Amino acid sequence: MNETDSTLPLQIVSTRVGYSNSVLIIHGDNSLLIDTGVSGHLHDFIALFKQNNLSPRAIKLIVLTHTHYDHTGNLAQLAELTGAKVIVHKNEFENLKNGFIKIPDGVILKTKIISTLGKIFARKYASPKPFTAHLINNGTFDLKAFGIDAKIISTPGHTNGSQSVLIGTTLISGDTFLNLKDGTVFPIFANNPKLLLATWQNIINLGVTEIYPGHGKKMSIQDVFPDFNFWKNKFKII
Ligand SMILES: [Zn+2]
Repeated sequence: MNETDSTLPLQIVSTRVGYSNSVLIIHGDNSLLIDTGVSGHLHDFIALFKQNNLSPRAIKLIVLTHTHYDHTGNLAQLAELTGAKVIVHKNEFENLKNGFIKIPDGVILKTKIISTLGKIFARKYASPKPFTAHLINNGTFDLKAFGIDAKIISTPGHTNGSQSVLIGTTLISGDTFLNLKDGTVFPIFANNPKLLLATWQNIINLGVTEIYPGHGKKMSIQDVFPDFNFWKNKFKII
């Protein structure tokens, strides 16, 4: 039951919770959940499990792509409901434990202003509710331990402890990529935009073909190139 069953296909279900995405990886009794949405939306998850005929207890692991509040809402309730372990990147373990993460810097004028004002008037705005994760990703974490043929990779830039789940050539990226209605793919808030571009290059080199972003619909790697070239130019990276 808890052994790796590689014949069982993985099913990826992305759903919008509030205004950010959570992704369910359905794999029988060894299913996993990536990100826990905006708080106050536990009912959305309960409905999602029902729609997919999944007992909450089938979820064995909750992966946090990073610890911003809009990806970690409902975390304590979901951990309790599912009994799942929670894994966070080592660079954000303390942020989650203490319930504090710095508001990321803006990348464009509008978000630079929002970020600066936020840091003055709403210091804790981006922060999660305090939670002590059970597991820490130190760089790469193989999900075979949870019966799933996939791994968690470090994808820093949006935040220092951003991580993504790689299943074959599919990436569930959190806010390493966006797919906003106005065509924005490069995160408009990022602690380290240059590092983020290096992460993007790494992801392209890995041969990723499709991406489930932190906000917006699933996209193809081709959708990344216009923003990639624009921002590389902007930051004078050849
Ligand atoms: Zn974020």
